[in-house]
Amino acid sequence: MIRIPKLIYLKMVDHAKRACPLECCGILGGKDHAVEKAFELQNVDQSSVRYSMAPQEQLKVFEEMEKGAMEMMAIYHSHTHTIPFPSETDVKLAFYPEVSSIIISLKEKDPVVKAFRIGREAIYLEEIEIIS
Ligand SMILES: [Zn+2]
Repeated sequence: MIRIPKLIYLKMVDHAKRACPLECCGILGGKDHAVEKAFELQNVDQSSVRYSMAPQEQLKVFEEMEKGAMEMMAIYHSHTHTIPFPSETDVKLAFYPEVSSIIISLKEKDPVVKAFRIGREAIYLEEIEIIS
């Protein structure tokens, strides 16, 4: 279960829409299962089917999270034309099994957001609770 404040949730969905037709990516930091901050990153792949977070930016985010005593809780990215389920590439590049993978799908008119834990053996759906 991951708790996301409504404003952060909306900002994340907005990021996906702004980046479209490219995939967006970002990091959610927080603690105790609750997200406190969203960090938008550049998709250095500039692709509509995959993403890589800019390493320099990622480093900065890690520093900022450390300063705020936050942990990396989730990595999010968008799927512009496909369902919100991890792609083969997403599974291959899931380096942090303890971190949620959030996917924002823009396939339908209304964006659909899902969270997953991607392990070596299986992919688990994780519940998202929107808090105020
Ligand atoms: Zn993906």
